[in-house]
Amino acid sequence: MGKMKDKVQENPGIETGGVLLGEIHNNSIHINFVSGAGPNAKKERCNFEKDIEYCQNYIEDKYNVHGGIAAYVGEWHYHPSDSNKPSGIDIKSLTEISDGQGYLTENPVMIILSNKNTASCTIHPIGKKFYYTNLEVI
Ligand SMILES: [Zn+2]
Repeated sequence: MGKMKDKVQENPGIETGGVLLGEIHNNSIHINFVSGAGPNAKKERCNFEKDIEYCQNYIEDKYNVHGGIAAYVGEWHYHPSDSNKPSGIDIKSLTEISDGQGYLTENPVMIILSNKNTASCTIHPIGKKFYYTNLEVI
């Protein structure tokens, strides 16, 4: 969480985000690494598109060094508003990830931070409706 908040503080007026890496257990997902958006990300007031090449390299580099504790588990982003609820576009993009071939998870996680410093955490299983889950900060 600290790394996400640091990235947000660089410019709290626009969206930012990145990828989440960690370990998937039966009933929980441990997030061990959090990336930034990358130099070519699109960061706007109400829109965010991560730098795909940067994030892909981040995923590969971390996996090569840390192995299974650095598996791709999902995405995070920041809303410069008081809402940490996923937007229609957010839900669609996570559904595309769970359906997509390039990603190795069928249950991607999304963490959204609001400008009130509260986070939501949702799981987006393939072919099913997303649901909220608890985010425990360790
Ligand atoms: Zn969003």
